[in-house]
Amino acid sequence: QKAQMAGAREERILVVVRLRPLSDKEIIANEVADWECINDNTILYRNTLREGSTFPSAYTFGTDRVFRGDCLTKQVYEEGAKEVAVSVVNGINSTIFAYGQTSSGKTYTMTGITEYTVADIFDYINRERAFVLKFSAIEISNEAIRDLLSSENTQLKPRDDPERGLIVEKVIEEVLRDWNHLKELLSICEAQRKIGETSLNERSSRSHRIIRLTIESSAREFLGKENSTTLAASVNFVDLAGSEQASQSLSTEARLKEGCHINRSLLTLSTVIRKLSKGRQGHINYRDSKLTLILQPCLGGNARTAIICTLSPARSHVEQTRNTLLFACCAK
Ligand code: ADP
Ligand code: MG
Repeated sequence: QKAQMAGAREERILVVVRLRPLSDKEIIANEVADWECINDNTILYRNTLREGSTFPSAYTFGTDRVFRGDCLTKQVYEEGAKEVAVSVVNGINSTIFAYGQTSSGKTYTMTGITEYTVADIFDYINRERAFVLKFSAIEISNEAIRDLLSSENTQLKPRDDPERGLIVEKVIEEVLRDWNHLKELLSICEAQRKIGETSLNERSSRSHRIIRLTIESSAREFLGKENSTTLAASVNFVDLAGSEQASQSLSTEARLKEGCHINRSLLTLSTVIRKLSKGRQGHINYRDSKLTLILQPCLGGNARTAIICTLSPARSHVEQTRNTLLFACCAK
């Protein structure tokens, strides 16, 4: 019984926190960094406005790791995502989320992590098995699903397939040839995501982007034969809508004024993550939003999950930074 419990605990969600540095623009605007990582587990809130203050508050959060502003994405990948991401080559589904307010570094972090994962998967592909690596990318905005590899603006629909389980109907899946092909597809996604928006952040702050890599493999000697066994697993890289979209602390009036509306997928995800982190008991409401519905096969069950919470150090963002840290704690 004890061993079983320990095993269950090991499977819990990996949660790490990444603090980005102040940007040049913020520095020029006299923005101040109030947050600082003092070791691998502790982040310090230090409001330098308090005259002669000896009042720093240290937050030792229940996360697995805290990465300071000058850490490279490579390190965040190695220590905060790799194990979860590459489990896909062993047939285990997984999902990696970037959670944080707009401009905290979600896209920056997720793009790097996707690239490092693909490099590792290409490296790993061994001689015994023949692998096919497929790439697809969708965006969920206002509970509507769109294909980021398609220039047509049609909505995609999730559907229960008797054989393959839950699928997104008609989604484009590209067989990934090599590194350059990945770069090409990523830039197509970026371009699609920017269409129709006046400000770059507007759309990405409201929508979720899911990049999915699916690995299919079968033993070489069986390839093409009837009894060939195919192993398929997916890893999802999820660049979430800005976490301010889930702010419940704001009054409706303030929310309308700031143009942020409650985002159903983001709220449902928070609930699902909280339940999963408590040990996966009871009913989990995956069907309450498109995001959790699509990710269901890659969340819970035997799937692995990592959440990278991205933080801005800026004084003006302190409320959202606190909210993100609270989310990180709840996910653990
Ligand atoms: P988000 O996707 O959360 O809105 P971005 O990833 O677009 O935020 O990051 C906002 C800006 O900050 C971008 O210009 C990005 O290049 C920069 N940035 C984010 N994280 C880091 C980091 N860890 N180191 C350096 N620059 C970063
Ligand atoms: Mg972004």
